[in-house]
Amino acid sequence: STLQEWRPFNKTRVYMSDLESALHYSLRVELSGHVRITGEHLIALKKYISVLAKYFPGRPSVKRALNMVDNWLQEQKGTEIKYSDLRDVLDNTVQTSDAVLPEGVQWVGCQGSQPHFRGYPCGVWTLFHTLTVQAKEQSSSDPREVLQAMRSYVSSFFGCRSCATHFERMAQDSMDRVTSLSKAVLWLWSHHNQVNNRLAGELSEDPHFPKIQWPSPELCPSCHGLKKTGEHSWNQEEVLTFLQNYFSSARILTDYLQ
Ligand code: FAD
Repeated sequence: STLQEWRPFNKTRVYMSDLESALHYSLRVELSGHVRITGEHLIALKKYISVLAKYFPGRPSVKRALNMVDNWLQEQKGTEIKYSDLRDVLDNTVQTSDAVLPEGVQWVGCQGSQPHFRGYPCGVWTLFHTLTVQAKEQSSSDPREVLQAMRSYVSSFFGCRSCATHFERMAQDSMDRVTSLSKAVLWLWSHHNQVNNRLAGELSEDPHFPKIQWPSPELCPSCHGLKKTGEHSWNQEEVLTFLQNYFSSARILTDYLQ
């Protein structure tokens, strides 16, 4: 049968297989649509790879591969690169050292109930939430570094162009108010919830994974509260603690890795 077998997973955890699948798809599929990369797109690519090299909480061999790509990109001083040259670096890493970016996708927490649901877009969110939390874990000196890398990557390369337009509008409105690593983690969380809110009930929604304001009360009871008026309110300190735990490098599961 050509039907993909369902991979049982724990909804309260992050899977490295989703993060590596997002990397594969971004670097080998999404970027490959750009034969030459120039100008602001090249700057966006350099920022993205630099953030991945610094904060991707991966296996040593994957981190070595990201570092090799980062070093190669930093050496490119011209105004353009060819995707095929970037691809050679990605694919040659195996021969030159124990550095390898696994090929192919294997969605776990990002599996859809149908092939056209979830997968890569879910992987992109998961990747960037993880990176904002890693930047905080590593006490990065620039609170906006990861968000700016995401903003310019999405703007230059994310295949869903209407998504990119929406995201850019949110970034323009409020990203400059992010002045700490904690605020960066919370900015991405709250804006992801805005997107969830907008998309709830749309045809693109996987019926098995309804869009909710996340985390649910089951996942994080203390994150939820009520105002005096009876209206729902988020306890942001609890949300931050929850996110730092949920996306922490120590808790990422390695089941199903190739
Ligand atoms: P996703 O929303 O992809 O979330 C993935 C996982 O992250 C969830 O399963 C959950 O575990 C966790 N999560 C959920 N909410 C949060 C949160 N607030 N904070 C932290 N973690 C959370 N699709 C459109 O149709 N229109 C758009 O305009 C659009 N804009 C997008 C913009 C960006 C930048 C991205 C990356 C994607 C966008 N998408 C858009 C795709 C859409 O947001 C979903 O990724 C897609 O529909 C798959 O949904 P999902 O059920 O896998 O959950």
